[in-house]
Formats: sequence, C-alpha cells, structure tokens
Amino acid sequence: LEAPDFSVPEAVDVGGLWPVPDREDDKYTQGVLGVAAGSASFPGAAMLTAAGAVRAASGMVRYAGPAADAVRERWPEVVATGSVGDAGRVQAWSVGPGIGTGGSGREVLAAVLEAGRPVVADADAITLLASDTTLWDARDPDVPVVLTPHDGEFARLTGSAPRDRVAEAVRAARRYDVVLLLKGNSTVVAAPDGRVLVHPCGQSWPATAGSGDVLTGMIGKLMAAGLDPLWACGCAVLVHARAAEIAATGPEPAPAGAAGARSSSGAVGAPIG
Ligand code: AMP
Ligand code: MG
Repeated sequence: LEAPDFSVPEAVDVGGLWPVPDREDDKYTQGVLGVAAGSASFPGAAMLTAAGAVRAASGMVRYAGPAADAVRERWPEVVATGSVGDAGRVQAWSVGPGIGTGGSGREVLAAVLEAGRPVVADADAITLLASDTTLWDARDPDVPVVLTPHDGEFARLTGSAPRDRVAEAVRAARRYDVVLLLKGNSTVVAAPDGRVLVHPCGQSWPATAGSGDVLTGMIGKLMAAGLDPLWACGCAVLVHARAAEIAATGPEPAPAGAAGARSSSGAVGAPIG
C-alpha cells in the first residue's frame, strides 16, 4: 500500500452518489436495512436510528430489539422482527446506539456480526468491541464493517484520543480492517486500503444528542443499497450535515456570518491519497 499523499486533496461531490430510485427499482434495490438499536432504558436511540434509516429512503427497515412498539408507533412502515436471527432478508445492519454495554447488548452485536452482512457499528457497539476483543471473532473478514466513533469512542477503541485525526483514522482503519469514520466538526472517513475522505462540516448544527444515531441509520441504508462503504459514509456525512443545517435554518443557506451557520451546501469530501 502506498502512503496517502495528504498534501494533495482532491474535491469530489459525494452528494451526487445518493441513489435515486428509477422505474426499474423496488424495495430490495433500495436496500433492506436491519436496525439493532435501543433498549428499555434507551428507546430514543432505536427511534432515531430508525428515523435515519426511514428518512434516508431505505427500501425496508427491519427493527430487532426491545423498543419495537415505540419505533412502530412513530414509523409504521418499519417491520419488527423480534431478534436479529429472525430478521430474514436483510442487506446490511446498523447496530449499536442505545443497546447498552452489558450482556444483552453484547448478544445483539454478536448476532449482527454472525449474520455475515455489511455492518455499521456505532456507540455501544464500539464500546463493546473495544472492551471484548473476542467479539471480533464473530466477524466474517470478507464482509465490510464500518465503525463510527466520536473522539471519546475512538479513545476507548484505540487507547488514545485522536490528535492527528486523518493519520490516526487511517491507521485505525488498517489496524481493525474497517472503514473508520471519526466524527466531529471535521469528519474523517478512512478505508483500510488507504483511501480517505475529509468533510469539513462548515457549521455546527449536527452537534446535538441523537444526531450520531441518525447518521448510523443513514449509512446503513446506503450500504444496504450496495454502495461501497467508504462512499456510503461520505455521502451520508454530507447529507446528514446538510439536513441538520436545513432543520436549523431553513432550506436556504444561512448568510455567511450568521450565528453558527456557514453553509455546508456544495461541501465535498476530499479524498486524499
Ligand atoms: P454523536 O457524537 O454520536 O452524537 O454524533 C454527533 C454527530 O454530530 C456526528 O455526525 C458529528 O460529526 C456531528 N458533530 C458533532 N459536533 C459537531 C460540530 N461541532 N460541528 C459539526 N458537526 C458536529
Ligand atoms: Mg453517538
């Protein structure tokens, strides 16, 4: 593998990768996503992960977990499946927000990894993978895994807080053989083959509780629809940031200098190396 050339960023408009359904499409080509999130203590994490999946136009969302009633009340199109093993035809999984870091969370994560489908693992799933390395054994090495830590979860995983965020995301992606999405005001997405995208958000509206759960649902939808995991992450990060901005300020980009709001519209990921 060549060392990435961090001095020559190239702009790409990853927003254009969002799959738009055409007359040949059906719910399966749009992606059937399994959501394993939430618990009796954290039903909101299930609802927000499902919200990201539904609003990102998943072909179908199948929910496995104890917050099924709350999820279905808000999103009647979601199919509740009981356990992960009963979920049937699922093309990718979003796992982790609110599952807890105890025995039941561990069981859910192990079942998702054993299912052998592409996975985006966030939040408690990252904490579990950090604290119990035997969980990695359940993973099929040929199936892509995306991890989406914020700085604290990254520190739990690797043992130290990220300082050089690009270099350390690239290193962690290689070390764990995952697509590593390091969240923050500037989000870095690194693939194990050395490709890396940087999204300098440009505004800070996503900095609110639950927004990471929504991102986990959005990435899952794009992986279920068959996008390469690196591009699924880049595309979801861009649209997620733009959606937060629209929710906060309306559809027109806020004027430069307005409180907290430089526009992210037209922002691009910069793949380096
Ligand atoms: P989480 O920490 O899991 O709740 O995820 C937070 C989400 O908000 C991630 O998508 C972050 O990239 C994003 N985010 C957090 N803080 C900021 C910030 N200051 N500016 C822009 N995006 C942010
Ligand atoms: Mg989070």
